[in-house]
Amino acid sequence: MREKYELVLRLWGEIQDLREIQQLLEWDLQVTMPPAGAEQRSRHLEALAAVIHRKLTAPALGDLLAALEASPRLDEQERADVREAVREHRRAVRIPPELVAEHARAASLAQQVWQQAREENRFADFRPHLEHLLDLNRQIAATLGQANPYDALLEEYEPGETEASLRSLFQELRPRLVRLLDRLRGAATPPGAACLQRHFPAEAQEAFNRRLAADLGYDFSAGRLDRSAHPFTSGTLRDVRITTRYHERNLGTALFGTLHEAGHALYEQGLDPEAYRRPAGGACSMGIHESQSRLWENLIGRSGPFWRHYFPLLRQAFPGLLDDVTGEEFLRAINRSQPSLNRVEADEVTYNLHIILRFELESALVGNRLQVKDLPEAWNAGMTATLGLQSPTDREGVLQDIHWAAGLFGYFPTYTLGNLYAAQFVEALRRDLPDLDDRLARGELRPVREWLRERIHRHGRRWPAPELCRQVTGNPLSAEPAMNYLEEKYTRLYCC
Ligand code: ZN
Repeated sequence: MREKYELVLRLWGEIQDLREIQQLLEWDLQVTMPPAGAEQRSRHLEALAAVIHRKLTAPALGDLLAALEASPRLDEQERADVREAVREHRRAVRIPPELVAEHARAASLAQQVWQQAREENRFADFRPHLEHLLDLNRQIAATLGQANPYDALLEEYEPGETEASLRSLFQELRPRLVRLLDRLRGAATPPGAACLQRHFPAEAQEAFNRRLAADLGYDFSAGRLDRSAHPFTSGTLRDVRITTRYHERNLGTALFGTLHEAGHALYEQGLDPEAYRRPAGGACSMGIHESQSRLWENLIGRSGPFWRHYFPLLRQAFPGLLDDVTGEEFLRAINRSQPSLNRVEADEVTYNLHIILRFELESALVGNRLQVKDLPEAWNAGMTATLGLQSPTDREGVLQDIHWAAGLFGYFPTYTLGNLYAAQFVEALRRDLPDLDDRLARGELRPVREWLRERIHRHGRRWPAPELCRQVTGNPLSAEPAMNYLEEKYTRLYCC
Protein backbone atom coordinates (compact mmCIF):
# COMPACT_ATOMS: atom_id res chain seq x y z
CA MET A 1 0.00 0.00 0.00
CA ARG A 2 2.84 2.36 0.95
CA GLU A 3 4.39 1.93 -2.49
CA LYS A 4 1.08 2.57 -4.25
CA TYR A 5 0.54 5.75 -2.24
CA GLU A 6 4.07 6.98 -2.97
CA LEU A 7 3.54 6.30 -6.65
CA VAL A 8 0.31 8.34 -6.66
CA LEU A 9 2.20 11.22 -5.04
CA ARG A 10 4.87 11.03 -7.72
CA LEU A 11 2.31 11.08 -10.54
CA TRP A 12 0.38 13.87 -8.85
CA GLY A 13 3.54 15.92 -8.37
CA GLU A 14 4.04 15.94 -12.15
CA ILE A 15 0.46 17.10 -12.70
CA GLN A 16 1.00 19.88 -10.14
CA ASP A 17 4.24 20.99 -11.85
CA LEU A 18 2.49 21.20 -15.22
CA ARG A 19 -0.41 23.15 -13.71
CA GLU A 20 2.01 25.67 -12.27
CA ILE A 21 3.61 26.05 -15.71
CA GLN A 22 0.09 26.57 -17.09
CA GLN A 23 -0.50 29.36 -14.56
CA LEU A 24 2.82 30.96 -15.41
CA LEU A 25 1.93 31.04 -19.12
CA GLU A 26 -1.44 32.58 -18.29
CA TRP A 27 0.17 35.15 -15.98
CA ASP A 28 2.57 36.08 -18.78
CA LEU A 29 -0.33 36.31 -21.23
CA GLN A 30 -2.11 38.84 -19.02
CA VAL A 31 0.89 40.83 -17.82
CA THR A 32 3.86 40.90 -20.21
CA MET A 33 3.16 39.02 -23.46
CA PRO A 34 3.27 41.09 -26.68
CA PRO A 35 -0.22 41.19 -28.24
CA ALA A 36 0.97 39.42 -31.40
CA GLY A 37 1.90 36.35 -29.33
CA ALA A 38 -1.73 35.45 -28.63
CA GLU A 39 -2.05 32.73 -31.26
CA GLN A 40 1.20 30.96 -30.34
CA ARG A 41 0.28 31.16 -26.69
CA SER A 42 -3.10 29.56 -27.22
CA ARG A 43 -1.27 26.62 -28.88
CA HIS A 44 1.06 26.32 -25.88
CA LEU A 45 -1.87 26.26 -23.50
CA GLU A 46 -3.77 23.74 -25.59
CA ALA A 47 -0.76 21.40 -25.78
CA LEU A 48 -0.18 21.64 -22.06
CA ALA A 49 -3.85 21.04 -21.23
CA ALA A 50 -3.76 17.87 -23.35
CA VAL A 51 -0.71 16.53 -21.48
CA ILE A 52 -2.30 17.29 -18.11
CA HIS A 53 -5.56 15.63 -19.15
CA ARG A 54 -3.66 12.53 -20.27
CA LYS A 55 -1.83 12.26 -16.96
CA LEU A 56 -4.96 12.89 -14.93
CA THR A 57 -7.00 10.24 -16.75
CA ALA A 58 -4.23 7.61 -17.00
CA PRO A 59 -5.69 4.14 -16.28
CA ALA A 60 -2.60 3.35 -14.16
CA LEU A 61 -3.49 6.24 -11.83
CA GLY A 62 -7.10 5.00 -11.70
CA ASP A 63 -5.97 1.48 -10.69
CA LEU A 64 -3.70 2.80 -7.95
CA LEU A 65 -6.46 5.02 -6.58
CA ALA A 66 -9.02 2.21 -6.63
CA ALA A 67 -6.66 0.03 -4.57
CA LEU A 68 -5.91 2.85 -2.12
CA GLU A 69 -9.55 3.86 -1.73
CA ALA A 70 -10.31 0.38 -0.35
CA SER A 71 -7.33 0.38 2.01
CA PRO A 72 -7.99 0.86 5.74
CA ARG A 73 -4.32 1.57 6.50
CA LEU A 74 -4.13 5.26 5.57
CA ASP A 75 -3.91 8.14 8.03
CA GLU A 76 -6.11 11.24 7.79
CA GLN A 77 -3.77 13.22 5.52
CA GLU A 78 -3.29 10.26 3.19
CA ARG A 79 -7.03 9.61 3.01
CA ALA A 80 -7.54 13.26 2.07
CA ASP A 81 -4.94 12.91 -0.70
CA VAL A 82 -6.70 9.83 -2.07
CA ARG A 83 -10.17 11.44 -1.80
CA GLU A 84 -9.05 14.57 -3.71
CA ALA A 85 -7.15 12.62 -6.37
CA VAL A 86 -10.14 10.29 -6.88
CA ARG A 87 -12.52 13.24 -7.25
CA GLU A 88 -10.40 14.93 -9.94
CA HIS A 89 -9.50 11.71 -11.71
CA ARG A 90 -13.15 10.49 -11.90
CA ARG A 91 -14.39 13.82 -13.13
CA ALA A 92 -11.74 13.93 -15.85
CA VAL A 93 -12.41 10.30 -16.88
CA ARG A 94 -16.17 10.65 -17.01
CA ILE A 95 -16.35 13.73 -19.21
CA PRO A 96 -15.52 12.64 -22.79
CA PRO A 97 -12.55 14.56 -24.28
CA GLU A 98 -14.65 15.53 -27.34
CA LEU A 99 -17.12 17.25 -25.02
CA VAL A 100 -14.32 19.08 -23.21
CA ALA A 101 -12.89 20.22 -26.54
CA GLU A 102 -16.28 21.34 -27.86
CA HIS A 103 -16.96 23.26 -24.66
CA ALA A 104 -13.58 25.01 -24.95
CA ARG A 105 -14.21 25.94 -28.59
CA ALA A 106 -17.77 27.09 -27.91
CA ALA A 107 -16.69 29.16 -24.90
CA SER A 108 -13.90 30.84 -26.80
CA LEU A 109 -16.25 31.76 -29.66
CA ALA A 110 -19.03 32.81 -27.28
CA GLN A 111 -16.69 35.21 -25.48
CA GLN A 112 -15.84 36.96 -28.72
CA VAL A 113 -19.50 37.22 -29.68
CA TRP A 114 -20.42 38.33 -26.15
CA GLN A 115 -17.86 41.15 -26.22
CA GLN A 116 -19.32 42.51 -29.46
CA ALA A 117 -22.93 41.89 -28.37
CA ARG A 118 -22.32 43.74 -25.12
CA GLU A 119 -20.78 46.68 -26.92
CA GLU A 120 -23.71 46.90 -29.32
CA ASN A 121 -26.37 45.92 -26.78
CA ARG A 122 -27.58 42.99 -28.87
CA PHE A 123 -28.55 40.06 -26.65
CA ALA A 124 -30.10 38.32 -29.67
CA ASP A 125 -26.61 37.83 -31.20
CA PHE A 126 -25.33 36.18 -28.04
CA ARG A 127 -28.41 34.05 -27.41
CA PRO A 128 -27.63 31.00 -29.64
CA HIS A 129 -24.12 30.80 -28.17
CA LEU A 130 -25.46 30.86 -24.64
CA GLU A 131 -28.01 28.18 -25.55
CA HIS A 132 -25.23 26.02 -26.98
CA LEU A 133 -23.01 26.47 -23.91
CA LEU A 134 -25.89 25.70 -21.60
CA ASP A 135 -26.62 22.54 -23.54
CA LEU A 136 -22.95 21.49 -23.35
CA ASN A 137 -22.93 22.13 -19.60
CA ARG A 138 -26.03 19.98 -19.21
CA GLN A 139 -24.32 17.22 -21.20
CA ILE A 140 -21.22 17.51 -18.98
CA ALA A 141 -23.40 17.35 -15.87
CA ALA A 142 -25.19 14.27 -17.23
CA THR A 143 -21.89 12.38 -17.59
CA LEU A 144 -21.06 12.97 -13.93
CA GLY A 145 -23.83 10.76 -12.61
CA GLN A 146 -25.37 13.12 -10.05
CA ALA A 147 -29.13 13.42 -9.68
CA ASN A 148 -29.07 17.22 -9.86
CA PRO A 149 -27.18 18.72 -12.84
CA TYR A 150 -26.50 22.03 -11.04
CA ASP A 151 -24.85 20.12 -8.17
CA ALA A 152 -22.60 18.38 -10.69
CA LEU A 153 -21.48 21.73 -12.13
CA LEU A 154 -21.09 23.32 -8.70
CA GLU A 155 -18.77 20.53 -7.62
CA GLU A 156 -16.07 21.80 -9.95
CA TYR A 157 -15.72 25.00 -7.91
CA GLU A 158 -17.15 24.15 -4.52
CA PRO A 159 -16.95 20.43 -3.66
CA GLY A 160 -19.37 19.51 -0.89
CA GLU A 161 -21.83 22.33 -1.68
CA THR A 162 -25.29 21.74 -3.15
CA GLU A 163 -27.99 23.77 -4.86
CA ALA A 164 -30.39 22.95 -1.99
CA SER A 165 -28.06 24.18 0.73
CA LEU A 166 -27.23 27.33 -1.24
CA ARG A 167 -30.93 27.99 -1.70
CA SER A 168 -31.61 27.75 2.03
CA LEU A 169 -28.58 29.96 2.86
CA PHE A 170 -29.70 32.57 0.36
CA GLN A 171 -33.29 32.44 1.59
CA GLU A 172 -31.98 33.44 4.99
CA LEU A 173 -29.70 36.13 3.57
CA ARG A 174 -31.88 37.86 1.00
CA PRO A 175 -34.73 39.29 3.13
CA ARG A 176 -32.28 40.62 5.72
CA LEU A 177 -30.18 42.32 3.05
CA VAL A 178 -33.26 43.87 1.47
CA ARG A 179 -34.44 45.15 4.88
CA LEU A 180 -31.01 46.63 5.64
CA LEU A 181 -30.90 48.29 2.25
CA ASP A 182 -34.33 49.82 2.84
CA ARG A 183 -33.13 51.27 6.12
CA LEU A 184 -30.01 52.74 4.51
CA ARG A 185 -32.12 54.36 1.79
CA GLY A 186 -33.92 56.27 4.52
CA ALA A 187 -30.72 57.57 6.17
CA ALA A 188 -30.75 61.34 6.80
CA THR A 189 -27.14 61.96 5.74
CA PRO A 190 -25.84 59.31 3.35
CA PRO A 191 -22.06 59.41 2.88
CA GLY A 192 -20.45 60.98 -0.18
CA ALA A 193 -17.47 59.51 -2.03
CA ALA A 194 -16.08 62.69 -3.61
CA CYS A 195 -12.90 62.55 -1.50
CA LEU A 196 -11.92 59.31 -3.28
CA GLN A 197 -12.33 60.87 -6.73
CA ARG A 198 -9.56 63.44 -6.64
CA HIS A 199 -6.42 63.02 -8.71
CA PHE A 200 -4.29 60.32 -7.03
CA PRO A 201 -1.10 59.66 -9.07
CA ALA A 202 -0.70 55.96 -9.91
CA GLU A 203 2.96 55.86 -8.73
CA ALA A 204 2.04 57.09 -5.25
CA GLN A 205 -0.86 54.63 -5.14
CA GLU A 206 1.44 51.79 -6.09
CA ALA A 207 3.99 52.67 -3.39
CA PHE A 208 1.24 52.74 -0.76
CA ASN A 209 -0.25 49.45 -1.95
CA ARG A 210 3.13 47.72 -1.84
CA ARG A 211 3.56 48.83 1.71
CA LEU A 212 0.08 47.60 2.66
CA ALA A 213 0.62 44.19 1.06
CA ALA A 214 3.93 43.82 2.92
CA ASP A 215 2.30 44.88 6.22
CA LEU A 216 -0.39 42.20 5.75
CA GLY A 217 2.45 39.71 5.62
CA TYR A 218 2.62 39.15 1.84
CA ASP A 219 6.14 37.87 1.19
CA PHE A 220 7.63 39.83 -1.73
CA SER A 221 10.60 37.44 -1.90
CA ALA A 222 8.01 34.80 -2.92
CA GLY A 223 5.79 37.12 -4.93
CA ARG A 224 5.47 40.27 -7.02
CA LEU A 225 2.92 42.98 -7.72
CA ASP A 226 2.28 43.95 -11.36
CA ARG A 227 -0.40 45.76 -13.34
CA SER A 228 -3.04 44.09 -15.52
CA ALA A 229 -6.42 44.96 -17.02
CA HIS A 230 -8.19 42.51 -14.69
CA PRO A 231 -6.60 41.99 -11.28
CA PHE A 232 -5.80 38.38 -10.38
CA THR A 233 -3.58 36.13 -8.28
CA SER A 234 -1.45 33.37 -9.80
CA GLY A 235 0.82 30.65 -8.45
CA THR A 236 1.33 28.93 -5.14
CA LEU A 237 3.60 28.65 -2.11
CA ARG A 238 6.98 30.24 -3.01
CA ASP A 239 5.91 32.00 -6.23
CA VAL A 240 2.58 33.77 -5.77
CA ARG A 241 2.03 36.80 -7.98
CA ILE A 242 -0.66 39.45 -7.73
CA THR A 243 -1.77 42.18 -10.10
CA THR A 244 -3.82 45.32 -9.73
CA ARG A 245 -5.08 48.21 -11.87
CA TYR A 246 -4.90 51.93 -11.13
CA HIS A 247 -7.58 54.56 -11.64
CA GLU A 248 -6.14 57.98 -10.91
CA ARG A 249 -9.65 59.34 -10.32
CA ASN A 250 -10.69 56.53 -7.98
CA LEU A 251 -8.47 55.78 -5.02
CA GLY A 252 -10.55 52.75 -3.98
CA THR A 253 -10.05 50.64 -7.13
CA ALA A 254 -6.39 49.74 -6.63
CA LEU A 255 -6.44 50.03 -2.85
CA PHE A 256 -9.17 47.47 -2.24
CA GLY A 257 -8.22 45.48 -5.33
CA THR A 258 -4.72 45.03 -3.91
CA LEU A 259 -6.00 44.09 -0.45
CA HIS A 260 -8.30 41.56 -2.16
CA GLU A 261 -5.56 39.92 -4.25
CA ALA A 262 -3.08 40.03 -1.34
CA GLY A 263 -5.67 38.08 0.68
CA HIS A 264 -5.77 35.39 -2.03
CA ALA A 265 -1.97 35.41 -2.14
CA LEU A 266 -1.53 35.04 1.63
CA TYR A 267 -3.62 31.88 1.42
CA GLU A 268 -1.37 30.39 -1.28
CA GLN A 269 1.82 31.45 0.53
CA GLY A 270 0.43 29.99 3.76
CA LEU A 271 -0.23 26.46 2.49
CA ASP A 272 1.72 23.69 4.20
CA PRO A 273 5.09 23.24 2.38
CA GLU A 274 5.09 19.60 3.50
CA ALA A 275 1.87 18.99 1.54
CA TYR A 276 3.14 20.75 -1.59
CA ARG A 277 2.51 18.78 -4.83
CA ARG A 278 0.06 16.47 -3.04
CA PRO A 279 -3.60 16.14 -4.09
CA ALA A 280 -4.84 17.62 -0.80
CA GLY A 281 -2.06 20.20 -0.55
CA GLY A 282 -3.78 22.99 -2.49
CA ALA A 283 -6.39 25.56 -1.52
CA CYS A 284 -9.69 24.11 -0.25
CA SER A 285 -12.27 25.61 -2.63
CA MET A 286 -13.13 28.77 -4.58
CA GLY A 287 -15.43 29.91 -1.77
CA ILE A 288 -12.73 29.50 0.89
CA HIS A 289 -10.24 31.27 -1.41
CA GLU A 290 -12.67 34.14 -1.81
CA SER A 291 -13.20 34.26 1.97
CA GLN A 292 -9.52 35.08 2.36
CA SER A 293 -9.60 37.94 -0.14
CA ARG A 294 -12.88 39.39 1.19
CA LEU A 295 -11.68 39.14 4.76
CA TRP A 296 -8.73 41.43 4.08
CA GLU A 297 -10.51 43.65 1.57
CA ASN A 298 -13.67 44.25 3.59
CA LEU A 299 -13.77 42.95 7.14
CA ILE A 300 -10.29 44.24 7.96
CA GLY A 301 -9.60 46.67 5.09
CA ARG A 302 -12.83 48.67 5.38
CA SER A 303 -12.91 48.71 9.17
CA GLY A 304 -12.58 51.73 11.46
CA PRO A 305 -9.68 50.35 13.56
CA PHE A 306 -7.64 49.53 10.44
CA TRP A 307 -7.94 53.10 9.15
CA ARG A 308 -7.22 54.64 12.56
CA HIS A 309 -3.70 53.43 11.91
CA TYR A 310 -3.53 53.79 8.12
CA PHE A 311 -5.43 57.01 7.39
CA PRO A 312 -2.62 59.28 8.70
CA LEU A 313 -0.19 57.27 6.56
CA LEU A 314 -2.47 57.56 3.53
CA ARG A 315 -2.53 61.34 3.98
CA GLN A 316 1.28 61.39 4.03
CA ALA A 317 1.37 59.29 0.86
CA PHE A 318 -0.71 61.91 -1.01
CA PRO A 319 0.52 65.26 0.35
CA GLY A 320 -2.22 67.89 0.44
CA LEU A 321 -4.86 65.68 -1.19
CA LEU A 322 -6.71 64.50 1.91
CA ASP A 323 -5.94 67.28 4.41
CA ASP A 324 -9.54 68.51 4.50
CA VAL A 325 -10.97 65.00 4.99
CA THR A 326 -11.48 63.52 8.46
CA GLY A 327 -10.84 59.86 9.23
CA GLU A 328 -14.57 59.37 9.80
CA GLU A 329 -15.48 60.96 6.44
CA PHE A 330 -12.97 58.70 4.70
CA LEU A 331 -14.38 55.63 6.45
CA ARG A 332 -17.92 56.55 5.42
CA ALA A 333 -16.77 57.17 1.83
CA ILE A 334 -15.11 53.75 1.44
CA ASN A 335 -18.18 52.05 2.91
CA ARG A 336 -20.83 53.92 0.98
CA SER A 337 -23.68 51.63 -0.02
CA GLN A 338 -25.61 52.44 -3.14
CA PRO A 339 -27.67 50.03 -5.25
CA SER A 340 -26.24 49.99 -8.76
CA LEU A 341 -26.70 47.86 -11.85
CA ASN A 342 -23.10 46.71 -11.84
CA ARG A 343 -21.88 43.73 -9.80
CA VAL A 344 -18.18 44.58 -9.94
CA GLU A 345 -18.73 48.03 -8.45
CA ALA A 346 -21.20 46.82 -5.81
CA ASP A 347 -20.65 47.51 -2.11
CA GLU A 348 -20.75 45.00 0.76
CA VAL A 349 -24.53 45.27 1.29
CA THR A 350 -25.67 45.01 -2.32
CA TYR A 351 -23.00 42.63 -3.66
CA ASN A 352 -24.66 39.46 -2.40
CA LEU A 353 -27.99 40.48 -3.93
CA HIS A 354 -26.29 40.60 -7.33
CA ILE A 355 -24.99 37.08 -6.74
CA ILE A 356 -28.29 35.68 -5.47
CA LEU A 357 -29.99 36.94 -8.65
CA ARG A 358 -27.37 35.22 -10.83
CA PHE A 359 -27.65 32.00 -8.80
CA GLU A 360 -31.43 31.91 -9.17
CA LEU A 361 -31.24 32.52 -12.91
CA GLU A 362 -28.46 30.06 -13.69
CA SER A 363 -29.93 27.28 -11.55
CA ALA A 364 -33.25 27.81 -13.35
CA LEU A 365 -31.47 27.71 -16.73
CA VAL A 366 -29.55 24.53 -15.90
CA GLY A 367 -32.68 22.95 -14.39
CA ASN A 368 -34.71 23.79 -17.51
CA ARG A 369 -37.12 26.02 -15.59
CA LEU A 370 -36.05 29.06 -17.61
CA GLN A 371 -35.32 29.42 -21.35
CA VAL A 372 -32.43 31.55 -22.60
CA LYS A 373 -34.85 33.59 -24.73
CA ASP A 374 -36.63 34.68 -21.54
CA LEU A 375 -33.41 35.46 -19.66
CA PRO A 376 -33.25 39.26 -20.19
CA GLU A 377 -36.81 39.64 -18.95
CA ALA A 378 -36.15 37.43 -15.92
CA TRP A 379 -32.97 39.40 -15.23
CA ASN A 380 -34.79 42.71 -15.24
CA ALA A 381 -37.61 41.40 -13.07
CA GLY A 382 -35.05 40.08 -10.56
CA MET A 383 -33.13 43.38 -10.56
CA THR A 384 -36.30 45.28 -9.75
CA ALA A 385 -37.34 42.84 -7.04
CA THR A 386 -33.96 42.78 -5.25
CA LEU A 387 -32.32 46.15 -5.85
CA GLY A 388 -35.25 48.22 -7.00
CA LEU A 389 -33.47 49.08 -10.25
CA GLN A 390 -34.33 48.86 -13.93
CA SER A 391 -31.59 48.15 -16.47
CA PRO A 392 -32.10 50.58 -19.34
CA THR A 393 -30.19 48.18 -21.62
CA ASP A 394 -29.05 44.52 -21.66
CA ARG A 395 -25.51 45.84 -21.92
CA GLU A 396 -25.79 47.13 -18.34
CA GLY A 397 -27.92 44.13 -17.39
CA VAL A 398 -27.75 40.51 -18.43
CA LEU A 399 -24.71 41.05 -20.69
CA GLN A 400 -22.42 42.60 -18.06
CA ASP A 401 -20.52 39.50 -16.81
CA ILE A 402 -18.16 37.26 -18.74
CA HIS A 403 -18.87 34.10 -16.69
CA TRP A 404 -21.74 32.59 -18.69
CA ALA A 405 -20.01 33.51 -21.96
CA ALA A 406 -16.99 31.59 -20.67
CA GLY A 407 -19.26 28.59 -20.08
CA LEU A 408 -19.06 28.86 -16.29
CA PHE A 409 -22.25 27.80 -14.53
CA GLY A 410 -22.10 27.24 -10.77
CA TYR A 411 -19.24 29.71 -10.30
CA PHE A 412 -21.13 32.83 -9.15
CA PRO A 413 -22.27 31.46 -5.75
CA THR A 414 -18.62 31.08 -4.64
CA TYR A 415 -18.41 34.90 -4.34
CA THR A 416 -21.17 35.02 -1.75
CA LEU A 417 -19.91 31.88 -0.03
CA GLY A 418 -16.62 33.78 0.32
CA ASN A 419 -18.37 36.70 2.02
CA LEU A 420 -20.26 34.42 4.38
CA TYR A 421 -17.23 32.31 5.28
CA ALA A 422 -15.16 35.47 5.84
CA ALA A 423 -17.66 36.89 8.37
CA GLN A 424 -17.92 33.57 10.20
CA PHE A 425 -14.13 33.22 10.33
CA VAL A 426 -13.74 36.74 11.72
CA GLU A 427 -16.26 35.92 14.46
CA ALA A 428 -14.01 32.99 15.47
CA LEU A 429 -10.90 35.18 15.14
CA ARG A 430 -12.44 37.70 17.56
CA ARG A 431 -13.08 34.93 20.09
CA ASP A 432 -9.38 34.02 19.96
CA LEU A 433 -8.11 37.62 19.76
CA PRO A 434 -10.57 39.66 21.86
CA ASP A 435 -8.35 42.76 21.49
CA LEU A 436 -8.35 42.51 17.68
CA ASP A 437 -9.58 46.09 17.17
CA ASP A 438 -6.86 47.54 19.44
CA ARG A 439 -4.25 45.59 17.54
CA LEU A 440 -5.57 46.76 14.17
CA ALA A 441 -5.60 50.35 15.43
CA ARG A 442 -1.90 49.95 16.28
CA GLY A 443 -1.20 48.56 12.80
CA GLU A 444 -0.56 45.04 14.09
CA LEU A 445 -1.79 42.88 11.22
CA ARG A 446 0.56 39.96 11.63
CA PRO A 447 -1.50 38.17 14.33
CA VAL A 448 -4.40 38.00 11.84
CA ARG A 449 -2.23 36.38 9.18
CA GLU A 450 -0.82 33.94 11.73
CA TRP A 451 -4.30 32.96 12.91
CA LEU A 452 -5.50 32.41 9.33
CA ARG A 453 -2.38 30.46 8.51
CA GLU A 454 -2.73 28.21 11.55
CA ARG A 455 -6.49 27.65 11.37
CA ILE A 456 -7.14 27.71 7.60
CA HIS A 457 -4.20 28.06 5.20
CA ARG A 458 -1.95 25.21 6.29
CA HIS A 459 -4.80 22.67 6.19
CA GLY A 460 -5.22 22.99 2.41
CA ARG A 461 -7.82 20.42 1.31
CA ARG A 462 -7.60 18.24 4.38
CA TRP A 463 -11.38 18.70 4.78
CA PRO A 464 -14.04 19.84 2.27
CA ALA A 465 -15.08 23.48 2.81
CA PRO A 466 -18.22 22.82 4.93
CA GLU A 467 -16.13 20.66 7.30
CA LEU A 468 -13.26 23.18 7.39
CA CYS A 469 -15.82 25.78 8.47
CA ARG A 470 -16.99 23.55 11.34
CA GLN A 471 -13.40 22.89 12.40
CA VAL A 472 -12.50 26.59 12.41
CA THR A 473 -15.68 28.11 13.81
CA GLY A 474 -17.43 25.22 15.60
CA ASN A 475 -20.53 25.67 13.43
CA PRO A 476 -21.81 24.95 9.93
CA LEU A 477 -21.85 27.90 7.54
CA SER A 478 -24.66 30.35 8.23
CA ALA A 479 -25.71 33.77 6.97
CA GLU A 480 -26.01 34.96 10.58
CA PRO A 481 -22.43 36.20 11.17
CA ALA A 482 -22.36 38.11 7.87
CA MET A 483 -25.72 39.75 8.54
CA ASN A 484 -24.82 40.62 12.12
CA TYR A 485 -21.60 42.19 10.88
CA LEU A 486 -23.30 44.20 8.12
CA GLU A 487 -26.23 45.37 10.25
CA GLU A 488 -23.97 46.46 13.10
CA LYS A 489 -21.45 48.22 10.86
CA TYR A 490 -23.94 50.02 8.62
CA THR A 491 -26.23 51.07 11.46
CA ARG A 492 -23.23 52.77 13.03
CA LEU A 493 -21.92 54.33 9.82
CA TYR A 494 -25.31 55.55 8.59
CA CYS A 495 -26.63 56.47 12.07
CA CYS A 496 -29.95 54.78 11.26
ZN1 ZN B 1 -11.25 37.05 -5.54
